[in-house]
Amino acid sequence: LVSRENHDSRTVVSVRGVPIGGDNMTVIAGPCAVETPEQTLEAALMARAAGAALLRGGAYKPRTSPYAFQGLGEEGLKILADVREKTGLPIVTEVVDAADVELVASYADMLQVGTRNMQNFALLQAVGDAGKPVLLKRGMSATIEEWLMAAEYVAQRGNLDIVLCERGIRTFEKATRNTLDISAVPVAQSLTHLPVIVDPSHSGGKRDLVLPLSRAAIAIGADGVIVDVHPSPETALCDGPQALLEEDLAELRDLAGTLATLS
Ligand code: PEP
Repeated sequence: LVSRENHDSRTVVSVRGVPIGGDNMTVIAGPCAVETPEQTLEAALMARAAGAALLRGGAYKPRTSPYAFQGLGEEGLKILADVREKTGLPIVTEVVDAADVELVASYADMLQVGTRNMQNFALLQAVGDAGKPVLLKRGMSATIEEWLMAAEYVAQRGNLDIVLCERGIRTFEKATRNTLDISAVPVAQSLTHLPVIVDPSHSGGKRDLVLPLSRAAIAIGADGVIVDVHPSPETALCDGPQALLEEDLAELRDLAGTLATLS
């Protein structure tokens, strides 16, 4: 179902009217985690000023350590819905458990499946049934074929509104949080009709790498980028070191402009 064979044109996924794919280049931005109403609104305003058309933000955070901030749950979803109301930005947010899909889908405009859950097949089927577009991140140790098969689980439930996201893979290299597999973008695009975007924040793991990796994503023809922004990364409860600052935003906005020009 997700294969390019038997599909004449590339799929354009509409998230509350915001297109991803085709001739569009979409910027998704926002905080890694929803922490407070003020922090989320500030980050959303930063995202909008930077040319983002969609707001990202996690209310359910799959953390490596069980002692790390796990997200605000439904309270975080309510904050996101309120910020959508105030900014007009549709919401992309992660769901980590099949049992929560209905609840998360009642607030979200797009359901994110994170790298750690790419092969959680029950979750993939549940998001496939939810009637909302899906952002499917590549598993950090998954091959492109496994990633596409994961998308197939969603598609099999009758939902072809799937956007793939390359977010870096595990390699021997320790200088970056993950290794951005930039070649995965054209390879996946040659195999599937689904849009493919890049997450330069979770792949590089460092603020200084986010804009260079975004440029690489644009140059190679990605359908968009999803980036972390935070009003005060030094106090962030999740992934502060990779969040863009106010002063990085002009460049992100110019980049978004370039995206539009190139497309
Ligand atoms: C995220 O985008 O918030 C996230 C946790 O990403 P990943 O699943 O790629 O680590």
